[in-house]
Amino acid sequence: MMSECLPDFSITRPKSVEQAISEAQNAPSGRFLAGGTDLIVNMRRGLVETGNLIDLTGIPELRKLKADQTGLTIGAGVTLSEISANESICRNYGAIAQASSLVAGPGHRVAATIGGNLCLDTRCLYYNQSHWWRQANDYCLKFKGDLCHVAPAGKRCRAAFSGDMAPALMVHDAKLEIAGPEGRRQIAVVDLYREDGADHLQLEPGEFIVAVEVPPADATTVTSAYAKVGVRNAIDFPLAGIAVAYRKAAPTVHSFAVAITGTNSAPVLLNGLEKLSEEDEPEAYFAELDKLVQKQVSPQRTSTTAAHYRRLSAASLARRLARELSAL
Ligand code: SF4
Repeated sequence: MMSECLPDFSITRPKSVEQAISEAQNAPSGRFLAGGTDLIVNMRRGLVETGNLIDLTGIPELRKLKADQTGLTIGAGVTLSEISANESICRNYGAIAQASSLVAGPGHRVAATIGGNLCLDTRCLYYNQSHWWRQANDYCLKFKGDLCHVAPAGKRCRAAFSGDMAPALMVHDAKLEIAGPEGRRQIAVVDLYREDGADHLQLEPGEFIVAVEVPPADATTVTSAYAKVGVRNAIDFPLAGIAVAYRKAAPTVHSFAVAITGTNSAPVLLNGLEKLSEEDEPEAYFAELDKLVQKQVSPQRTSTTAAHYRRLSAASLARRLARELSAL
C-alpha cells in the first residue's frame, strides 16, 4: 500500500521565463510549481507522478502587478491575497477582488497564485481520494483506470473545474500571456480550457502562464461581483461559483456577462444573453437568465452534493448578482 508521503523529487529555481522554458525542455515530465497549494497535495496523494519540479516563484516578471488607465496586468505569480488587497482592483474589478478573497482560507491565499488558480486540476469524488481508496475502486479514467464511475457509459472524464478566478476574469474579457518553447502568445481566458476533465488545459508541453491582461474598467461604466456556494463557507471549493459583470451601454440599455465555475470540466461563459432594454420587463429578463444558466451548465455526480442542486444554485446566484448589480 502506498503511503500518503510526498515522493522524492528534485527542484530547480529558474530566474527568468526563458530559463524556466529551457528547464522544462530538459525535464519533459517535470511540472511547474507556484504556490503549490494544489500540486503538492495531489503529489502526496499519488495523483501527480513527477520527479522534477520547476519553481516559478523566483521569476521577477511573474510578480508584476500594475493597474492604470491602460488596464490591469497581473503576473501569474502574484498571490491571491495581494490581489484582494489591491485598492485599484477592489475599486474597479469587483468580481476579481471578491473571487480572490473567497479562495480557500487566508493561509492558502498568501501562497496561492493567480496562475496556479487558473491551472487548478479538476476535481471529482472518485479522484480526490487516497491512493489506497482509488486502488480499491479500480482507479478511474482520469488516472490509471479505464472506467468513469460517474458516467460509466462515457469515454470522457466529467471532473469539475473549480477555480474561482477564471469566471471573474472572463466577465472582464481578460487575456492570458502564455510562454513556451515556440515563443509567446495571447489567448482569451475562456480559450485556456476544454470540456475534458482529464485534460482540461489547452497548454502545449512546456508552456505556462506569464501574466493576465485585463482591459481598463471603471466602476462608473462596469460593475462586477462574484459569489459561490460550497458545502462550507470557507476553505472549500465552489459547488457553483458565479461572476457577473454589468455594463450600462446607454441610459436605457443594460448588458450582462456571466461566467460559471464548479459545474463543468471547463468554466462556462454564458452564451445567448441579449441586452436588457427599456421595453423589457426586468423580472422576465432575469427569469430568462436563470433558464439560460440552467441549460448551459452540466454538473455531474462528481461531488456528494446533488448535481441538480448545483445547477439551481448557479442559476439563482447569477440571477441575484445581476439584479443586485443593475439595481433593477
Ligand atoms: Fe474519474 Fe469519472 Fe470522476 Fe473523471 S468523472 S475523475 S473519470 S470518476
